[in-house]
Order: sequence, then C-alpha cells, then structure tokens
Amino acid sequence: MANKPGKHTPYFELVDAQRLSGCSVCRLVHHTTDRYLDSLLYESVLDPGLREKLKRSHGFCSEHVEMLRNHPGRSLGIALIYETLLRRVTDVMEEGKLEGGSLRERIRGTGSPGRGLARRLTPDLPCPACLIKEQATQDNLELLIAFMEDDKLYEAYAEGEGLCLLHLAWAVSLVSEEATLQRLLQPQIARYRLLLEDLAEYIRKADHRFKHETLGPEGDVWLRVMNAITGGAGLGLGREHNPRGSARRKQVGE
Ligand SMILES: [Zn+2]
Ligand SMILES: [Zn+2]
Repeated sequence: MANKPGKHTPYFELVDAQRLSGCSVCRLVHHTTDRYLDSLLYESVLDPGLREKLKRSHGFCSEHVEMLRNHPGRSLGIALIYETLLRRVTDVMEEGKLEGGSLRERIRGTGSPGRGLARRLTPDLPCPACLIKEQATQDNLELLIAFMEDDKLYEAYAEGEGLCLLHLAWAVSLVSEEATLQRLLQPQIARYRLLLEDLAEYIRKADHRFKHETLGPEGDVWLRVMNAITGGAGLGLGREHNPRGSARRKQVGE
C-alpha cells in the first residue's frame, strides 16, 4: 500500500476500540463528534462570527441536538447560538409575504407564492457536526482498511464485535485487494452466523410448545441484531452479551 499511514494515536485508538462493545467506528466517531460539539459550544460563547455561521445551518440536525442534550455545561453556548438563529427567523417572518411569481410561472401553474419565503426559512448550510461525523467515519475506515494486514489490528478486529452494516458497506467500498476484503468479511460473517443461531433459538422458544424453556444467552438477541445492523455509539452489545462470547459459553455448557 503506497500511502500507508503511520501508527499514530488514531491507529491505537482504533485497536483499543475493537475491544469495546458495539461497532468500533460508531464509537470512535461518536467521541470525535462529541468533542467537536463541546469545543464548538465553548467557542460560540466568545465568537459572534461563529454564531452567525451556525444560524445558516439552523444550528444542528436532530441527531446532534440529541447529543447536545448531554452537554448541560455548555448551555450558554447553545442559548447564544439559538438566540441568534431565532432572532433572524423572527425577522424574516415579520417581513414575510407571498410573492406573485413570474407571469410565465403563473401561466404554467408552477409558481408557488410562498416559495421565496420558505427558502429564507430553510437552512442553506448542512449541520456542522454531520460534516465532522462524515469525515471522522471516512478517516477511521480508511485506517482500518490500510491496516487490515497488520496482525495486531486484524486480531483485535476479528476478536471484537466488528462493524455495523452501514460501516461495513462503507469499508467495503474502500477496499482494493481481495485478501483485504476477505480479512474484513470473514470475521463479520462468523458474527452474523452466531447471531443467526441465537435468533433461531429465540424464535424456537417463542413457540407455545417450548415456552416453558428458560431463555439463555439468546434472550436479548432481538436487541443485539438491531445494533449489529444499525450501529450507534453506546448501543453496543455489551461484553456479557457478546455474541461470540455467548456462543463460546454455550459450547462450553453443552
Ligand atoms: Zn457503525
Ligand atoms: Zn448533524
């Protein structure tokens, strides 16, 4: 690999994240975005120019508003950002009126008199945290693929909980060598097969003929399978619910 990056902090963070529950990239990206939001809120108290910029994106998307709820220590930054934004929206609405539309538009019936005002009430920049999230995702997945041949990272990846399906597909799009693709896919296939075993057992026990049987490690598979597909930081499978660990325990117990 010609442009293989060096082993710096992001590499070691990626290795360490494999040992934690859930999709490692979801987890790392969540931390990066959370840190970014925290510093942005701190700066926004001091920097009116930054608040002006944030009014163009209408602050943040719903996912990142949820994250901001966990930052009560930065509430002044949030209040100042949204005060700037709300003041602007209120001014636009006070001046708001319907537009006639051009003669041609009226003849065609395509002119919408409220369209101009609606546009002024719509953000013209994306959520800044979404941009950070996308870049952090790309960076982590590029690193994972670049070091897939590195035994330390590969072993941690193969032993860990892998990637959510969104990030797996994204990672696949970055692969250029067959051997790397198989190193990426095979551990994930093994994880999915174990989840499928647990799902089969869970569904079997839901049958009235077997309802008396107590649930084993498959009891929370309906939650784990959603996390495996959709990902999300903090929605990990939990070490005690690790599907690979569960399978090992089952084999030992049998
Ligand atoms: Zn993920
Ligand atoms: Zn966002």
